[in-house]
Amino acid sequence: MRRPRTVLIVDDQEINSDALEVILGNDYDVITADNGVRALELMRSHINEISIVMLDLMMPVMNGYEVLKTIREEEELRNLPVIVMTSYKEAEVDALRLGASDFITKPFDLHEVILARVGRIIELNEGRRLISSAEKDELTGLYIKNFFFEYADRIFRYHPELKMDTLVLNIEQFHSVNALHGREFGDAVLRAMCSFIREFLRETEGIASRFDADRFSIYCTHRDDHRAILERFQAKMYEFSPKVRIHLRMGVDERTEDVEPVLLFDRARTACIMVRGDYQNPLMIYNEEILKKELFDQRLLSDLRNALADGQFQVYYQPKYDIRCEPPRLRSAEALVRWDHPELGIISPGTFIPLFEGNGLITLVDNYVWEETAKQVAQWRNKFSLTLPVSVNLSRADVFDPDLTDRLCRLIKDNGLDYCDIKLEVTESAYSQDADRLLALIHTLRKIGFEIEMDDFGAGYSSLNMLSSMPIDVLKMDMSFVRNIENSETDLRLMKLILDIAGYLKLSVVAEGVETEGQLKLLRDADCDLVQGYYFSRLVPAKEFEKLIVKERERSVG
Ligand code: C2E
Ligand code: CA
Ligand code: CA
Repeated sequence: MRRPRTVLIVDDQEINSDALEVILGNDYDVITADNGVRALELMRSHINEISIVMLDLMMPVMNGYEVLKTIREEEELRNLPVIVMTSYKEAEVDALRLGASDFITKPFDLHEVILARVGRIIELNEGRRLISSAEKDELTGLYIKNFFFEYADRIFRYHPELKMDTLVLNIEQFHSVNALHGREFGDAVLRAMCSFIREFLRETEGIASRFDADRFSIYCTHRDDHRAILERFQAKMYEFSPKVRIHLRMGVDERTEDVEPVLLFDRARTACIMVRGDYQNPLMIYNEEILKKELFDQRLLSDLRNALADGQFQVYYQPKYDIRCEPPRLRSAEALVRWDHPELGIISPGTFIPLFEGNGLITLVDNYVWEETAKQVAQWRNKFSLTLPVSVNLSRADVFDPDLTDRLCRLIKDNGLDYCDIKLEVTESAYSQDADRLLALIHTLRKIGFEIEMDDFGAGYSSLNMLSSMPIDVLKMDMSFVRNIENSETDLRLMKLILDIAGYLKLSVVAEGVETEGQLKLLRDADCDLVQGYYFSRLVPAKEFEKLIVKERERSVG
């Protein structure tokens, strides 16, 4: 048989403890104390035996409230469940706030009710303690996620009066820290981070957790000095690791309304993501603007499928002119997408492409654009008896689509086109992500007969090394190189340098964003092949683009 559990009864009036002892005595071992100080002594010395404390609030020497406070403050005693006994209904809320599990009113209720309550609380608590071995993260000693949220929820529910902050801390480029300096060092950084957090929690009431590898969450009473908090963490981190610079960033949400902790943490995390890589300003406090942007993004996400089915996406075309001849000749075009939203109006790709790239949904949009473009190219060929190749944009997500090659080939076949009629623009940033995979893909596509244009060349990621290893056909010089060639000698030289390199590698070059006659002249003098930009035309719908085709034909005939 199991040893009976022990109940500690704390009451200064013997008549009460006697009565309780009678009620509980059959099922439990009972020990008693007649004041708070004695009660705490017993708790400390019998912590492993005592299953529950029945606590009177009004006592001499040390009252029940103070006992509760002490229990909460002492690490060893914190998990001890306490049922408060009181004759004042009003005391109940205070007691629960101070961490009491339940309360019973004096004079005592039916015996069965008291027994049931005591039994239930013990069960609950033991159930919790069984799993509490996994309550903390082994490496850092902070709560693991589930428990963290469980406790945050309790604080949220039982302490509606407390203004709480949620802080999410992240280590910049933690995977690189691990990769460059080893896992052991990475672990040491995480442990150091935790000790800073624990230190912080000694001065501010709260709890903390480590979520994913390097994301820390803190739920604590409100403070106004978030920047100072982050700066202090950062300073300690520099001190801990003076050679290897570890950069922290932090997102914060302050409890301003009745929003559950889980959501508050989502917001703090969003804020934290928004300052990723921003070493100048690594702190973000969730605000109305972010909320609006989030709602807007959610709206776009939920509208996407319907919009595709509904034909709200439209393909526009922007011509590319060959400037090696005089007058320049229309050679090809680029397909660019627009979302004509029934309520939000025209949305440009800069708004929705980053959003849909994050979750891969961009492939749906891209496939739609490719199909429309292929149909259009076929239609123009039939209508004007000429082939005008059109480039389409591939996003990073497309590169990882295993069906990409099949899809593109089917497109060509279904529309009776040649492979060189649809050119593929791959943005430069895709090269830096998974170069090997991209390299293999480009090899395959080129072998089939597709032409590859490297988009946005020079916009930030390129290396000459990459340029020589990637088998591409065309280099699209980013418009940032063109913008200032008329008034900056350096920019002019850079532009010429890119053209020299391309010439050396036998790549033709398309200059993007050409807006003025002066830019055109400089590019032509430097032997640039093709030009795309507002100087010739903005992006226009297919119908309007036809006018450019007609004009071109008239000129070449006449
Ligand atoms: P991009 O591929 O570099 O496209 C060129 C962008 O420059 C287009 O912006 C175009 O409108 C703009 N542009 C053209 N000429 C000029 C000029 O003379 N001056 C200036 N200031 N801008 C000019 P847009 O259409 O807003 O597209 C932005 C980006 O969105 C594109 O950059 C491309 O990366 C992406 N994108 C557009 N359509 C698609 C698509 O169907 N799929 C994917 N994955 N991405 C697309
Ligand atoms: Ca492009
Ligand atoms: Ca571009």
